[in-house]
Amino acid sequence: MARFEASRRTVMAGAGALAAAAALDLPAGIAPAHAQGASVNQNPGFYRYKVGDITVTALNDGFAKRPLEGFVRNAELADVKKAMEQAYLPSDALSITFTTLALQIGDKITLIDTGNGDSGAPTSGAWMKNFQAAGLDPKNVSTVVFSHFHGDHINGFRLKDGTAVFPNAEVMVPAAEWAFWMDDAKMNAAPEAMKGAFAGVRRVFGPVAKDVKQYEAGKEIVPGVTAIAAPGHTPGHTVFAVSSGSGKLMVLSDTTNHPALFVRNPDWSAVFDMDGPQAAATRRKLLDMAVADKMQVCFYHAPFPATGHIAKAGNGFELVPVQWSSAI
Ligand SMILES: [Zn+2]
Repeated sequence: MARFEASRRTVMAGAGALAAAAALDLPAGIAPAHAQGASVNQNPGFYRYKVGDITVTALNDGFAKRPLEGFVRNAELADVKKAMEQAYLPSDALSITFTTLALQIGDKITLIDTGNGDSGAPTSGAWMKNFQAAGLDPKNVSTVVFSHFHGDHINGFRLKDGTAVFPNAEVMVPAAEWAFWMDDAKMNAAPEAMKGAFAGVRRVFGPVAKDVKQYEAGKEIVPGVTAIAAPGHTPGHTVFAVSSGSGKLMVLSDTTNHPALFVRNPDWSAVFDMDGPQAAATRRKLLDMAVADKMQVCFYHAPFPATGHIAKAGNGFELVPVQWSSAI
């Protein structure tokens, strides 16, 4: 007890790292990161799993904090806070995480979405570091597939200074998304708050506009990857069925934002859903399908590594995360 009191006092007094380490009975030279005054960064955020013969690498791009107030359009703030508390999350702000995918199919690398690049919140932009830590090289990416054109999905494709991050990649975009965002009449008619999103799409895709391949939903766009229309979040929002042998993964993109809110309450609308009722109908349909087929799913905005299965829960659903595995 006396020893505990002494160590607690030592730590609370903010003594040097060595003293703190000694008080905590750590071997000399090893002090907790916070005691060293070092920034407490995590290990690289990548996670590999298999879908048949396809190796999937989930790549974390950090997070952005967003106040809860006004985040869900059609729910009372008190109910949103309650959902956060039930998930043991802070009830003042939501940390929205970003997880893109790299699919190794044969000797080719296909990306699904690209993260924030250098255009997002200061707590985002970890993508390239994690991609390289996974042993991958942007020059070797053969295809980049986009699910939709929100900035957190496309900005990693082109740095603010104009640099193309994946110089050798074919670019595949949903035809319906392209038709909407590249339409000048739609941009001019858009509310002021949305004009920046239109400008962002042009910044990223303008230089390659002639080369992008527009894909249609319902088609296999890369071997083993079939695009499925999932409108509502944006007009051309797309999800993907990845299949190889008996392996199947449904890439749900932004069918929901954080699962603790929108998998649990599929009728809630996040401010980012451009057509709330249509997004909710799409969400229920896809989550029902995931339950019926017991298929593995992944989300762009779920806690890392952002993959698991969907179970029925009350009037909604819940995400049951996969068990982390040291071997794939
Ligand atoms: Zn998103």
